[in-house]
Amino acid sequence: MRAAVLALQGAFAEHERILGDMGVECMEIRQERDAYRDFDALILPGGESTAMGKLLRDYHLLDLLKERIENGLPVLGTCAGLILLAKQLDGGGIPHLGTMPVTVKRNAYGRQLGSFSTEADMEGAGRIKMIFIRAPYIVEAGEGVEVLARVDGRIVAARYGKQIGVAFHPELADCRCVYEMLLKK
Ligand code: GLN
Repeated sequence: MRAAVLALQGAFAEHERILGDMGVECMEIRQERDAYRDFDALILPGGESTAMGKLLRDYHLLDLLKERIENGLPVLGTCAGLILLAKQLDGGGIPHLGTMPVTVKRNAYGRQLGSFSTEADMEGAGRIKMIFIRAPYIVEAGEGVEVLARVDGRIVAARYGKQIGVAFHPELADCRCVYEMLLKK
C-alpha cells in the first residue's frame, strides 16, 4: 500500500506524518514523472487552490492526475484539495481537476470565522474534530455524491465513488479515520 501526496504547495508534510504513523508508505508528487509511478491512493492537501492549480498546470500534472482519478484512483482532497476536485466553483473561477460533481464556495465562512474548530459526525468516521482554515463548503452536491458531514447545515464532507472531499483538515486533528476510509477503498 503506497499513498502519494501532492507536494507542490500547502500542508502536505502533515499528511505524510500521519500516514507514516499509520504505517503507510508515502511518496510525494512534485513533477510530471511522479504521476506515472505506482501508488494506490492520492492525497490533495490544503493550501491555496489557485496556486496549486497553476502549479498542476505548469508541471503538466493536471491531466495525468485527472485521468488516474477518473479511472478509479482513490483520492482524498482536504480544504484546498476539495476545491481542486470540485467540478464547479461558486461565483465563477476555473475548476481544476473537476472530477467531483460538486459546487464549492471558497473562503466561505467570512473573515470573522476564517478559522475555527468544532466537533461533528462524519459518516464512516464517527464523531471527529474538524479544523477549518479559510475553508470552503459544498453548496451543491450533484448526482451520485453522498453527503458525509454537515456543520450548521452546510456540507463539509462528501464522497463520490472513490473520491472523498473534506472542507476541514484531518491531518491537523490527527484524525486517522478519514485516511482509513480512503485506504479501505
Ligand atoms: N482558502 C484556500 C483556497 O481557497 C483554502 C484554505 C485551506 O486549504 N486551508 O484555496
